[in-house]
Amino acid sequence: MFTTRFAPSPTGPLHLGHAYSACLAHDMARAAGGVFLLRIEDIDRSRARPEWETRIHDDLRWLGLDWPEPVMRQSDRGPAYDAALERLGDMGLTYPCRCRRADIEAAAGAPQEGVPQFGPDGRIYSGTCRHRPMAERGPSDVIRLNMRRAADRLPAPRFVETGPEHAGTHDIDPMALTRSIGDPILARRDMAGSYHLSVVVDDAAQSVTHVIRGADLFEATALHVALQMLLGLPVPSYHHHRLIRDDAGKRLAKRDDARAISRYRDEGLTPEDIRRMVGL
Ligand code: GLU
Repeated sequence: MFTTRFAPSPTGPLHLGHAYSACLAHDMARAAGGVFLLRIEDIDRSRARPEWETRIHDDLRWLGLDWPEPVMRQSDRGPAYDAALERLGDMGLTYPCRCRRADIEAAAGAPQEGVPQFGPDGRIYSGTCRHRPMAERGPSDVIRLNMRRAADRLPAPRFVETGPEHAGTHDIDPMALTRSIGDPILARRDMAGSYHLSVVVDDAAQSVTHVIRGADLFEATALHVALQMLLGLPVPSYHHHRLIRDDAGKRLAKRDDARAISRYRDEGLTPEDIRRMVGL
């Protein structure tokens, strides 16, 4: 079944960019006779708020979207993320890392031509803790994926992209991921799974066949596909859509309250007006 999802984090008001993403995922599912799901990505407990979650539901209903209940919430999914981590651990692909941001900055060598310093998660980790066994994990350690070892286990990762900017089949060179992404964090001290791990585990658990999301997440997709293959999960097809920008051409942020859907609604605009504004 053609299945899409909208997966907001309840850390602020939904703005026009979210409206575009949600309506597009909803419309594509409807057009294909499929199903549109909502998933609440409240994995970051320090930032997620129940009142934002309530507003997300209200805003999306007002836009005319509907989805099956119950809605998956990442805060309920700890055991599923633990199981995925354990599986990767059993394969010898994880290690505990105690480096803080300042350590990572300090360990970064001088920039070399052709070697990227930053990936989808910021500064690429130099691998100081890579030799540490999982048994050594301390209470404040994060868990990282050993990408070099993982690369040996990835036969021919690829995914299909249907978004406007990168449409086509993308073959991923696993060794290139060790340079462009490095060893990503899979679990943090206070979170069962990082964004990358949880999104992959949940898309599979919800049988999402078409991931529709903003172009800002395109760069992370190679990592998501690598994790899907390592965990034996199906690889969905991806559609990264254009980002909605403000008048100055800047990407909208959660704190950009002026573009909040509820603001427009309070000002008397209709859902049709919102659709028109985002070009749907
Ligand atoms: N929760 C993410 C966000 O709010 C979206 C994740 C995804 O679509 O893969 O930006």
